[in-house]
Amino acid sequence: SLSLTGVSVDYDGVPAVVDVSLELPAGQVLAVLGPSGSGKSTLLRAVAGLEPARGTIAWAGEDLAHVPTHKRGFALMFQDGQLFTHLTVARNVGYALRLRRARDTATRVRDLLALVGLEGYDDRLPSTLSGGERQRVALARSLAVEPRLLLLDEPLSALDAGLRERLAGELREILVTAGTTALMVTHDHEEAYTVADRLAVMRDGRLVQSGAIDEVWRAPVDPATALFLGYAR
Ligand code: ATP
Ligand code: MG
Repeated sequence: SLSLTGVSVDYDGVPAVVDVSLELPAGQVLAVLGPSGSGKSTLLRAVAGLEPARGTIAWAGEDLAHVPTHKRGFALMFQDGQLFTHLTVARNVGYALRLRRARDTATRVRDLLALVGLEGYDDRLPSTLSGGERQRVALARSLAVEPRLLLLDEPLSALDAGLRERLAGELREILVTAGTTALMVTHDHEEAYTVADRLAVMRDGRLVQSGAIDEVWRAPVDPATALFLGYAR
């Protein structure tokens, strides 16, 4: 499980994340929901080890303060999957496995492509794929390394509304099937409800509420949060 205790991040003395504490049990998906500028990406980057933070970030009880990014066993996926444009789909998905000289790379790539619904796409180049297909390749590539924790920063926000809704459902299925522990950042409450088990709501760098989705939905802490969660005006 991931455990954050009093995590704060400043940029040149300006606070971006303020005293955030939260728990993410292994095997669950947590959505961090908040408006633009509320500190979501900064929090994710701190968890990944890409941003110096105060407080404690721990995985399975181990303080990660001195564990560099590449040794945390986490994978990070962004809004625009950032595929290698000159490599085929199969090469993109198998990239990290090849670097590690993993055995059975071909079989694992095939299984991952099946998991994300892209069987037979092995030899396609990213430029020939739709946005949704590209995001699914990026997801397969992130899952290839079997991360202890998958960090997703607005993974669907570059897609149009219809596709976003469909892929959100698929993303949920894929994460549950793979048993992945994931922390997803989004400003879209519908996406959060579809993908996650738990919700953490941020505003102005602070965590204003967290809990199981239905708990948060039933009892928003204040009117601003209620609006953000999708309550009608
Ligand atoms: P969005 O939904 O727009 O992606 P966010 O919730 O991810 O927003 P952050 O990117 O974490 O927000 O930014 C939080 C605050 O920190 C903002 O005020 C932002 O301007 C500031 N900030 C983010 N990155 C930097 C940086 N590299 N240098 C200085 N300030 C930064
Ligand atoms: Mg962001």
